[in-house]
Amino acid sequence: PHLAAFARLALAARPVRAPADLDGLTHLVLPGGESTTLHHLLTLFGLWEPLRARHRAGTLALFGTCAGAILLARDCGGSPPTLGLLDAAIERNAYGRQVDSFVGELELEGAPFPAVFIRAPRFTDIGSDVRVLARLADIPVALEATGILATTFHPELTDDPRWHARFLGLAARPAR
Ligand code: GLN
Repeated sequence: PHLAAFARLALAARPVRAPADLDGLTHLVLPGGESTTLHHLLTLFGLWEPLRARHRAGTLALFGTCAGAILLARDCGGSPPTLGLLDAAIERNAYGRQVDSFVGELELEGAPFPAVFIRAPRFTDIGSDVRVLARLADIPVALEATGILATTFHPELTDDPRWHARFLGLAARPAR
């Protein structure tokens, strides 16, 4: 679904499965799913350290959606280990179980956006350099920092590529 969202923006995106697939990329989505499984697979396929190194070097912007946002966070209060690239903590499964999944209406740049939350996490402790882009009932659900976008919902499941367009507008993090 993320590839389809980029296609709507007339952008040729491609899946990344091995470290060599990162060559030449400036932007990468960490999709939703199961964060423990994603951590396991990213480690198994040798992508965990290259992702962190490329982002820290300022050459790879990252967009984490749902489980992907969990992996970007500073910590999730337990398992799995996180990349720690976004200065925010996150609580997994904060709205309940799979059956408690829902669509919530957000506002993005002054227009409504129906956001799909599937066993979603919740940002809990947000650093001062991180911007809250959207809230649902006062709960922050979309964060932006230098070279990073993170949403606790699934923007790729709504037929509206504005979040993906916003991500493409982000520059990768400058080297520190
Ligand atoms: N509940 C999942 C986790 O904690 C995330 C769900 C999702 O990505 N939709 O990893």
